Amino acid sequence: MLTLATPVEQINKIGKATAKKLQRLEIKTVQDLLQYYPFRYEDYSQTVKISELRPGTKVNVRGVLEIIQNRRTPRQRMMITEAIVGDETGQLKVVWFNQPFIGRTLKVGDQISLAGEIKADLAGVQMVAPEYERLSGCLPVHTAGLVPIYSVTANLSNKQLRFLIKSVIGLVNEFHDFLPGEIQKKYNLIDLPKALRNIHFPQNAALLEKAKRRLKFDELFLVQLTSQIKKSEARSQEAEKIKFFEKETKEFVKNLPFELTNAQKKAAWEILQDIGQDKPMSRLLEGDVGSGKTVTVALAMLNAALNKKQSVLLVPTEILASQHFETLCKLFKDIKMSIGLFTRSNKKVNSGQLTVNSKKEMISAIKDGQINIIVGTHTILQEDVEFKDLALAIIDEQHRFGVEQRKALRQKSGDKKTVPHLLAMTATPIPRSLAQAIYGDLDLSIINEMPKGRKPIQTFVVPEHKRYDGYSFIKKQIEEGRQAFVICPLISPSDKLGVKSVEEEYKKLNEIVFKDLKIAYLHGRMPARSGSASGGKTPGKEEIMQKFLNNEIKILVSTSVVEVGVDVPNATIMMIEGAERFGLAQLHQFRGRVGRSEFQSYCLLFPTDEKQAAARLNTFAKNHDGFKLAEEDLKMRGPGEVYGTAQKGFPEFKIADLNDHVLIKEVREAAERIVNEGAEKYPELLERIKKDDEWVVG
Ligand code: ADP
Ligand code: MG
Repeated sequence: MLTLATPVEQINKIGKATAKKLQRLEIKTVQDLLQYYPFRYEDYSQTVKISELRPGTKVNVRGVLEIIQNRRTPRQRMMITEAIVGDETGQLKVVWFNQPFIGRTLKVGDQISLAGEIKADLAGVQMVAPEYERLSGCLPVHTAGLVPIYSVTANLSNKQLRFLIKSVIGLVNEFHDFLPGEIQKKYNLIDLPKALRNIHFPQNAALLEKAKRRLKFDELFLVQLTSQIKKSEARSQEAEKIKFFEKETKEFVKNLPFELTNAQKKAAWEILQDIGQDKPMSRLLEGDVGSGKTVTVALAMLNAALNKKQSVLLVPTEILASQHFETLCKLFKDIKMSIGLFTRSNKKVNSGQLTVNSKKEMISAIKDGQINIIVGTHTILQEDVEFKDLALAIIDEQHRFGVEQRKALRQKSGDKKTVPHLLAMTATPIPRSLAQAIYGDLDLSIINEMPKGRKPIQTFVVPEHKRYDGYSFIKKQIEEGRQAFVICPLISPSDKLGVKSVEEEYKKLNEIVFKDLKIAYLHGRMPARSGSASGGKTPGKEEIMQKFLNNEIKILVSTSVVEVGVDVPNATIMMIEGAERFGLAQLHQFRGRVGRSEFQSYCLLFPTDEKQAAARLNTFAKNHDGFKLAEEDLKMRGPGEVYGTAQKGFPEFKIADLNDHVLIKEVREAAERIVNEGAEKYPELLERIKKDDEWVVG
């Protein structure tokens, strides 16, 4: 007996090969099959008698097959199948090309149903290559009504998939309708089995719309409810108040070498107000690369330290940790506080009195509260680290961390009664509409303004025949004293034809193109610091980065490891190989590595496949606003693809439209209703959502 959990292999008549193809679409069970929604429909809802057929219309025709034959065209060596179909009103000519099996499967006398466009013909009308099916006493599936079109992989046809889904469609009744009745009623939603049945085989256009509405609602609702439940749980916890030291903060801001932008001030103010409460902050700070998020959060860390409480800044890479450490040491040089750097290979503090040389010393200094601000990587979470009084936890590039890591951070306050305030920073701009759809009423601060005086980075797509002009340009920049990044998609050469690797390009640039310049390479497989294992011979990422910062290295060939956060103001060229292989948002991250000084900066895109890439890369070259680019990216690929690869567990929407603001509003309202009533009253709903909550901030 089939159930929703039955593997597709066990569906009657399905072959091993077909099952494999379904696997590629991630369809493993009957349930997956029923939840594989069509992406559009062919409208064959008009069934027309042959005498009434009009050229240019798309229709369904039913009749008896009167003649059918295959023949080969003499010159083109093409196989043509010709047929005459008749009904009580007349006869219709039908042809198919290169599908001789049709001539063998359909037999004279068969009742058949055809669908497609009616073409004018010298003799009247005809159908060319229509969809067809034999009717043996049953209703047509492929040729009448609103016919679902699925996105299929090679060798799996829509017809096959439709047939399979049709064969199990009765099982939609096994789906448990988890949505509370009053919500269904209030928002005018049809029940789940009916929605599923009509999404595949709509009875009519009106029911199709209702089916879509219900399934879109479900997707958004489950994500939204998860967010809201998390948020309400967070609200029930307590945090320590971080009092605002107005005088000291103003003094600090006044002494900065630049003036804060209004957007920075606004974001900082939102954060400072939040951490002044005894409810834990759970805020996302979004700001384009280079918008100055670090100094903005430094204001919060400053206040935590003035309150004699600890804060931690968690970052995804060692390089970034060192750089943030240096930045904070500089920012706070006139303020008496101790700052620690804690990564797998680095343990140090800024303060004169305190010396920390080992992990053990670091752990005890943190536990005793001798260190006010700890900058580090996930090592802080893995190791046996306890804080004395952690009041503020900040995560940079939050999309690099999973929910478990954020949870671990939350549990480290040191004082068992409270949790730290949490701030997540990201340069991956999630448009507000998307953020609302996903995070609900998440607290969001957006720095949407660049520091004054930044020149937009000139971006060019460089075709292969101009490659050497590109190199000359780079050479000239370096002669003027600047530095360049070269990004390659891979570390080592691979069979993937034409995809550049760091090792190859480094060799070529170092030995041939830029023979006289100092070049180095960097990738994620290198140790953070020159390994003792290799006798100190292979340089580590940190040394390379340090040398690049000191301008001892002119060109750095690298993989995407430089994507996040690294700040080298003297670098003015970002050259990207295989540019079409990166998403717009990621390209924007790369580009953000340059343009950090008064010098004009450039981004040179070298696509491997120029044609395929043209539209996207040109959009990118013209556009400098990370938020706009993310929106473009979203239009071209789905949110799952835009954010999914970089963002752990980003929710995937199969059907929901994130631009449907009206529906999103209804969904939020519905989720609020459940949370206000108490979600525990709806165990079935809770059961549904507990699985996938990775993307929730907090
Ligand atoms: P991101 O938001 O990408 O993390 P950073 O915090 O690294 O950006 O800041 C980028 C650079 O801009 C840093 O060198 C920083 O000192 C500088 N900066 C930050 N705010 C301003 C400002 N208001 N005016 C001028 N420069 C600023
Ligand atoms: Mg940053």
